[in-house]
Amino acid sequence: MKVKNQARFEFMSLPENVAVARVTVASFASQLDFTLSDLDEIKVAVSEAVSNAIIHGYENRPEGTVRVVITLYESALEIVVDDEGRGIADIEQALQPAYSTDPERMGLGFVFMQSFMNEFRVKSEVGKGTQVIMVKKLEAASDPSPES
Ligand code: ATP
Ligand code: MG
Repeated sequence: MKVKNQARFEFMSLPENVAVARVTVASFASQLDFTLSDLDEIKVAVSEAVSNAIIHGYENRPEGTVRVVITLYESALEIVVDDEGRGIADIEQALQPAYSTDPERMGLGFVFMQSFMNEFRVKSEVGKGTQVIMVKKLEAASDPSPES
């Protein structure tokens, strides 16, 4: 698919920046014809991925750098969230609903990302970092249209 527009940005691993990433991605996404509810879902997915990078990847150390790449295609938006933090030893386990390494947390971030986005992948290496890749398609592109 042809790239229509792309932006990259990075920021310190501070919780204040979750909202910055969310608003930036949403404003970029609004170049496509997403519904308000699609945009809300994109915002939640970005918030969850960026929060994970800060809380788990960098264990709340502000010196970490979180990187976001957003790519706009004709009928889809791809979001990549990257950290160079501690990494995930067992990705399959981390994706389980209600699984968290922190007893205070719900373990639902990945569940939200998976249910709100059309495509979702995690790449991670212990000690190297984690990359979350998510794609949201325009409704017309994601709903198989009935045969006429
Ligand atoms: P919640 O998102 O509901 O606050 P949570 O962050 O623990 O809780 P998920 O977002 O689903 O739940 O993540 C599941 C687990 O995967 C985390 O508890 C953590 O151990 C691991 N994890 C997720 N993202 C990262 C990351 N970027 N770096 C390292 N570990 C991660
Ligand atoms: Mg989380």
